Amino acid sequence: MKKRILIVGGVAGGATAAAHARRKSEDAEIIIFEKGPHVSFANCGLPYYVGGEITEKKDLLVQTPEGLRSRFNLDVRVMSEVVTIDSENRKVEIFDSRSEKKYWETFDDLVLSTGASPLKPPIPGIDLEGHFTVRNIPDIEAIKTWIANHKPCKAVVVGGGFIGLEMVEQLHRLEIEITVVEALPQVMAPLDPEMAAWLHQKLREKNVKLHLDDPVSKFEKSEDVQASILELKSGQRIPADVVILGLGVRPEIKLGKDAGLEIGERGGFRVNDLLQTSAPNIWAIGDAIEVRDFVTGNWTLIPLAGPANRQGRIVAENIFGNSIKYPGTCGTSILRLFDLAVASTGANEKILKMNKIPYDVIHLHPPSHASYYPGAFPLTMKVLFNPQTGKLLGAQMIGKDGVDKRIDVFATALKAGMTVHDLEDLELAYAPPFGSAKDPINLAGMVAGHIIKGEVQNCQWHEIAKLDPGKTIVLDVRDEDEREEGYISGSLHIPLPELRNRFLELPKDLEIIVYCQSGQRSYFSCCFLAQQGFKVKNLSGAYRTWKAATNQ
Ligand code: FAD
Repeated sequence: MKKRILIVGGVAGGATAAAHARRKSEDAEIIIFEKGPHVSFANCGLPYYVGGEITEKKDLLVQTPEGLRSRFNLDVRVMSEVVTIDSENRKVEIFDSRSEKKYWETFDDLVLSTGASPLKPPIPGIDLEGHFTVRNIPDIEAIKTWIANHKPCKAVVVGGGFIGLEMVEQLHRLEIEITVVEALPQVMAPLDPEMAAWLHQKLREKNVKLHLDDPVSKFEKSEDVQASILELKSGQRIPADVVILGLGVRPEIKLGKDAGLEIGERGGFRVNDLLQTSAPNIWAIGDAIEVRDFVTGNWTLIPLAGPANRQGRIVAENIFGNSIKYPGTCGTSILRLFDLAVASTGANEKILKMNKIPYDVIHLHPPSHASYYPGAFPLTMKVLFNPQTGKLLGAQMIGKDGVDKRIDVFATALKAGMTVHDLEDLELAYAPPFGSAKDPINLAGMVAGHIIKGEVQNCQWHEIAKLDPGKTIVLDVRDEDEREEGYISGSLHIPLPELRNRFLELPKDLEIIVYCQSGQRSYFSCCFLAQQGFKVKNLSGAYRTWKAATNQ
């Protein structure tokens, strides 16, 4: 049967669905409607064009309408907004903004890949000149033009999420003074606070000013600046010659909502496992839909390019009679912030706590590759797992090198339903420039395994401040020179090499929390002290995590 497939939105999900549909059927008539001037552009590359890492606009155009036409025989109509869906009669109304005319097209199957639009809360002055969101090529050209014409000295980035921080990095390349304003107490919501603390450190190191836990209450026009003066809830006033609004995104669902399609509790199109909406023959994919969180099973919004692409393929398969189920999203993501890579997959501690899912947590700081080979940097890792079964629930990582490959191993393990015991056993590629014979992933499996087997107990960084000095002591087993750089106030100091001779100095009736710099020497100390009959716990992530998390 010759199908007529209409696709609304011609970028990540829409273009993928169209190209895959063509591979399924040479006979199908496939039309893409895109309200903007470009299809299949690299949204993810947009920030890098501002700072000049991507120099040519044409490099952002992964495909052109002509390319899609000649390569896949797709009918691509840009500047064409679908304004009405008549689901009963299977037709849509299109507004062609070039001819300013409306017309109707019928469909056998309709795919909505309308994406998500930048959030713009009703803050007074939010639409002033010199304020920009970042979603498409016209947005990014407007930012570049503003920078070229106004040569701004001070930029304010409102929102410390992915897009906000990518823009920080790029504006920094242009030697513009930057302030980040964030309503939450941390940047990068997918991370837990002790992990985000490393990013706060990095931003301050790069002279980026940070205002956390302090939302914007208004933007004021002023002769003194080129964009506006921001007033924060705390009363602080921040001048800006350019303002980037990175406040998150909202699924673009109006078209479908007006047609009566079911909208879920998170504000996205509600679809079934096959990605069908509540109306027959209407499918939805990408940022506009709610997906099942792979770990919690809850409906959630995860606006990322990988899921949109995979959903595009699945929908094309299902339109042609397959029944491929979308298995949910782990939210695997990565960001570069100056010389750091920041990545996460699965659930974080905040989400597990909120959903009352039992978990245990480890932090570790293994070197990115064999420490004797030049150029190794410590990784900062946090791994969450079920305390009984060891099933992996999530992972977060920050580091200068080797973060991308490790997070992908974690993401694969998570998708496969693996446990931390399985991680111990993974056989991963090793040569000194790339890793260690005991890879950080294996190590994470081993450390978590010790906890599950009860061989060692952990104390978390946030528990230190709440310890009862009448019941607990904190023991620092690092070397003298490390202690000179800073220590946990009130801790005893016995370096590991002296512990075997001096352990009798320790009280047997108190619990001992042991720490070193990264967690390995304290683990060795815990094993020794436990065998001597002491009650011991290892400070998870050691001094490094505690110091970053408590901003010492
Ligand atoms: P989109 O790709 O946004 O496409 C939706 C299209 O639909 C839009 O072009 C819109 O104009 C069109 N449209 C909407 N309504 C209509 C209508 N009624 N009629 C016609 N056309 C319509 N993800 C990552 O995984 N990694 C990254 O590094 C990353 N970086 C990003 C950086 C930026 C600056 C941005 C904006 C996004 C980034 N993303 C990243 C997110 C990723 O781009 C999206 O998740 C992905 O593009 C979603 O695909 P989609 O098809 O759902 O929507």
